[in-house]
Amino acid sequence: MNRVIDSWYIHNRKNSRFKTRYHSPVPFAVMDMPELPEVEIKRRYLEKTSLGKSIKNVQAIDGRILDSVSPVSLGRSLKGRKLLKARRRGKYILLTTSDNNTLLMHFGMSGDAVFTGKGEPRPKWTRVIFHFENGSALNYTSMRLLGKIAFYKTANESEIPDISKLGPEPLETSMGFDKFNEMITGHSTTIHQILMRQELVAGIGNLYSDEITYQAGVLPYRKTGNLLEVEIRSLFDKMKWVLKTAVKLDADLEDKADLFLIPNRKKDGTCPRGHGKLSKRTIGGRTSYYCTTCQQ
Ligand SMILES: [Zn+2]
Repeated sequence: MNRVIDSWYIHNRKNSRFKTRYHSPVPFAVMDMPELPEVEIKRRYLEKTSLGKSIKNVQAIDGRILDSVSPVSLGRSLKGRKLLKARRRGKYILLTTSDNNTLLMHFGMSGDAVFTGKGEPRPKWTRVIFHFENGSALNYTSMRLLGKIAFYKTANESEIPDISKLGPEPLETSMGFDKFNEMITGHSTTIHQILMRQELVAGIGNLYSDEITYQAGVLPYRKTGNLLEVEIRSLFDKMKWVLKTAVKLDADLEDKADLFLIPNRKKDGTCPRGHGKLSKRTIGGRTSYYCTTCQQ
């Protein structure tokens, strides 16, 4: 991982995390892209803080974060409107406006959305500010400009390019075992790569893929064609359990290092079940951590 991100991360963790500094209930403290649990917690935060308020104007401090919409056009489209609904699909947040359009946010790496009350200073790395009539604001921050904000003149997910290509939500009941099994057996690659393919199942990235394979006892580099049905069943159950539990824990697994792999996913990190140093290898360009005792 990039050293800048590393020190940024450590700095923020040490300084009482985002919680008090930026009034954000969850730090996107993982050193990778925020995944389903972090984005779901962020969605709830936006629901609590930013809905139903009239937008006074939009201030694009750095327009490079805007995707296929100009600062002027975004401002014109949102002025006088309210955000009425906050939905999540995969790693995206969709905010439905009062005239039934969609403001879309993706946080890339180290991005965030932070609500500030009247007179409160804007957070560091703020790229776009949505100013509300009452003086409060929603600040989109991104240190490395890897996320994006887009605007679509529709509320229909199938008409939004980023969303229409996404696979099903892993926590929805429509994602049953049969569908999951088909997804696994229908592709010939590693299980780690399958779980991260957003067009197959939405919202899982490098960290949660590692967690799911760890909890399921399956090595991440196993080829999907060689998995037993009982292993696929275990992956399915653990996918649901890991994501559900992470959301329940506000996507903060740091205090649960004895149960989860994610807090131990670091240099010299060890297996939570006491099997010594975790192994790691690059799979599909991403570093995966695993325990050769727990996983087969
Ligand atoms: Zn182990």
